[in-house]
Amino acid sequence: DAAMYRAKSLGGGRHHLYTQQLNGDLFKRWTMEHALRKAFEQNELMLFYQPQVSAENGSIVGVEALLRWRTGSGQPVNPAEFIPLAEETGLIVPIGEWVLRTACRQAQLWRKSGWLDVEMAVNVSPKQLEQDDFVERVQAILAETAMQPHLLMLEITESAAISETGDAASKLAELKALGIRLAMDDFGTGYSSLGHLRTFGVDTLKIAQSFIRDVAANNSLASIVRAIAAMASSLGLTIVAEGVEEESEYVFLRSIGCDRIQGYYFYKPMPKQDMEQLLMESAS
Ligand code: C2E
Ligand code: MG
Ligand code: MG
Ligand code: MG
Repeated sequence: DAAMYRAKSLGGGRHHLYTQQLNGDLFKRWTMEHALRKAFEQNELMLFYQPQVSAENGSIVGVEALLRWRTGSGQPVNPAEFIPLAEETGLIVPIGEWVLRTACRQAQLWRKSGWLDVEMAVNVSPKQLEQDDFVERVQAILAETAMQPHLLMLEITESAAISETGDAASKLAELKALGIRLAMDDFGTGYSSLGHLRTFGVDTLKIAQSFIRDVAANNSLASIVRAIAAMASSLGLTIVAEGVEEESEYVFLRSIGCDRIQGYYFYKPMPKQDMEQLLMESAS
């Protein structure tokens, strides 16, 4: 056809290479999407849990649910690869609902075991928040699982909150009215406006991992994080630092008034059984 003809006349060889590359990427994407859909349908997705500890004494005060996928051969797929794909394809909507239900059910089971009243943090995709009936869906899950709203922390990103579509602000206000807590995830990487934190009634601010990295060695980074912590605490927000790997980072963060620490320095994300073991030990 005409387009093809033009492409050829512009240098067929390169065009050919380009097409092959594109087909390769598309094929890989399509294969992965298909596999993810199947994995979801066949119940092969699971949650890992990463504890958040009190900066003061290291006790477990919360848990973040993190989605995991192992293929049939037991190979883990990197969340940085499949979660963006799930977002783009919209699969994140049913998957995210499953995550929320599973995390709430789990929190309630742990609670009934008398182990620990930990807050359960669940990531919410912008696509979920865009659903007209998102609030009703969350409400239904709370009812179904008997989850205490004040023990549920929904983690959103700034870009989701300020999205033009779907009237996020009023939905967030409705969620707040149900008693659910809200956290601004990855704070520092997006628009990072203090105004947003107030507008959206956020209770918790999670300082982005990229800020924590090297914070102990980099003075200007340290000043930024100190300023974020100062303003967050003056707004009465709980501050969580994510991605804390080093003792020096932990010492610094505690010194500037960070309330909670989440990171490999204390705990990595772990499967349910390991989390249970940990909760059991903490309870005794
Ligand atoms: P996030 O919500 O910011 O989650 C924190 C990420 O940092 C997790 O990556 C966690 O494993 C990682 N992390 C925690 N501590 C450390 C540390 O000390 N060092 C390093 N290097 N990493 C640490 P993960 O599990 O790979 O998840 C990546 C992102 O995928 C999450 O970032 C979140 O945005 C998204 N995600 C994960 N689960 C879900 C889900 O159920 N729904 C949605 N919508 N997104 C999810
Ligand atoms: Mg998160
Ligand atoms: Mg984060
Ligand atoms: Mg994130």
